[in-house]
Amino acid sequence: MPAQTSPEIARLFGGGAKDPLAVLKEVWGYPSFRGKQEPLIRHVIGGGDALALFPTGAGKSLCYQVPILCRKGMGIVVSPLIALMRDQVEALQGLGIRAAALNSSLSQEDAQQLRQDVREGKIDILYVTPERVATESFHAMLRNVAISLFAIDEAHCASSWGHDFRPEYRDLGKLADLYPGVPRVALTATADPHTREDIIRVLRLETAEVFMTSFDRPNISYTIAERDKPKQQLLDFIGRHKGESGIVYCLSRKKVEETAQMLNAEGVRALPYHAGMPSDVKNANQDAFLKEENLCLVATVAFGMGIDKPNVRYVAHVDIPGSVEAYYQETGRAGRDGMPSEVFMMYGMADVVQRRRMIDEGNSPEDVKRVERSKLNALVAICETAGCRRQAILGHFGEAHGGGCGNCDTCLHPVESWDATEAAIVALAAVFRTGERFGTGHLIDVITGKVTERVKQFKHMELKVFGQGVQHPVSTWQSIFRQLLAAGLVWVDHEHFGAIKLDASAQAVFKKERTLRFRKDRPVKVKWSKGTPATQKHDMDTEAAALFERLRTERMSISKGMGVAPYVVFNDATLVAMATTRPSTLGEMGRISGVGALKLDKYGEMFLDIINAG
Ligand code: ADP
Ligand code: ZN
Repeated sequence: MPAQTSPEIARLFGGGAKDPLAVLKEVWGYPSFRGKQEPLIRHVIGGGDALALFPTGAGKSLCYQVPILCRKGMGIVVSPLIALMRDQVEALQGLGIRAAALNSSLSQEDAQQLRQDVREGKIDILYVTPERVATESFHAMLRNVAISLFAIDEAHCASSWGHDFRPEYRDLGKLADLYPGVPRVALTATADPHTREDIIRVLRLETAEVFMTSFDRPNISYTIAERDKPKQQLLDFIGRHKGESGIVYCLSRKKVEETAQMLNAEGVRALPYHAGMPSDVKNANQDAFLKEENLCLVATVAFGMGIDKPNVRYVAHVDIPGSVEAYYQETGRAGRDGMPSEVFMMYGMADVVQRRRMIDEGNSPEDVKRVERSKLNALVAICETAGCRRQAILGHFGEAHGGGCGNCDTCLHPVESWDATEAAIVALAAVFRTGERFGTGHLIDVITGKVTERVKQFKHMELKVFGQGVQHPVSTWQSIFRQLLAAGLVWVDHEHFGAIKLDASAQAVFKKERTLRFRKDRPVKVKWSKGTPATQKHDMDTEAAALFERLRTERMSISKGMGVAPYVVFNDATLVAMATTRPSTLGEMGRISGVGALKLDKYGEMFLDIINAG
């Protein structure tokens, strides 16, 4: 698609001083900045370097896109993934900005043409990979080209501490010497102090101002439940999101395939995605997910980074993720657009055991494994908490939250807790008396007095704890063991086939020096908050909801015709605003958030027709 500047933007550029707020309103059609966007943007326009630590969906892209349009020259954005660039370039072109990506996916001719456009000052924003920045020819191309700023996206790739380390990011520090006076802004959604220090050191951002906001994602509703009837639980959850897009994460490739098949058989349009699939199928499925609506992508964690789809309305985990970090990142792909979104995780003791095995049998050095185990335990503790999930998640990242968020399952349906000290002693005694050699299945048989072959074989009916826990059902004992594990009082030993072992801290419980309050077993059926599906949550009455659907259909046919993702036309939030406020003139339409000058020009009439016809 040829990059063209709309007359509106050309006028804006020609008009001398460019105020960031005016640019935001004119080009994006947004009425105001969010969070720390504005101070950061003004700092960068003034020539300062910046590091942005904002959660997903906070609007990091605008933090460099607006300054680029306000400063003189071309802006260069370093981005790790070609797929990510493509989406961003499409979206920017849709706003009338001359954006392009210089990468290996271009034909030689197109690359040649683009280089010429760059030299002739015909490009506003150029996306490149870090590999490209490492080449001599790239810098040769930039000789005599005015550069407004460098943006380094996904900056945590510079840190070997995180999981997305990209060695080429290490070279980016030299931009400081090569382009003195050109501001650099690095952006990431990874907040931990270790990664932050690495970014500052590696990218040479010692004098950069750091802009950080809360990592809370208030529009995401968290629900975590014990796995009971997994198929039904998943269908119930997805059933709340008819006509919407979402992601289902599974631990194994096999489960991805099975789950996708099951969903299709149940009438949910679903496509699989995992690293073992041929890359053309994988890419086609990813593309379908980005461009279509009403599609469920069933994936392993191989799917994720660079998924910029703003209207992912739900994320389900059918298995427990490996850490709170992974859980936060994967669930964070929901609701980038700030609209209400739901995430749901199912888990059970078996997954915890399996995850532990993956860590124990992995190739990491022992000290790394220790960290991985504690990260997994931290997530199990969040699963088992009787308190606010959001508070627990943010607390893990060192952010204080008062709790009582009102938008997680434990807040919406408070969990009762009980004094589980006596029961815990019985459970711990069973572990001890059987020699710390058995998994929870057998231990619960012993506690509840089941005479199985194994019990007979080991003469466990002769133990004092045998049958001491008949007053609680098996599910309660499972919950007790999970909570003992979450509290670190027991651990799972994989070298001994998943045997439960006692931690030294269990002593205090035996001696009754420590009492334990555990959450009560949940009713089997997950209670969902009222007022779902998402369309109702947007406060739309039936009439508005019907109009919203018609606007969506129009958007889909336009985006299909253009071969772009629907959100390149308008995002959901903008359509909701149209459906609820019903603008009747182009002037009113232009005041809706997300309707910039070019989009008003291009689509205003079409959408007005639909609103006025209804
Ligand atoms: P991030 O990169 O931080 O995850 P994005 O840059 O993708 O977030 O922005 C998320 C969504 O929020 C996008 O749809 C974007 O257009 C929208 N957005 C960003 N800033 C604003 C704003 N000031 N007003 C309205 N919408 C915004
Ligand atoms: Zn809560």
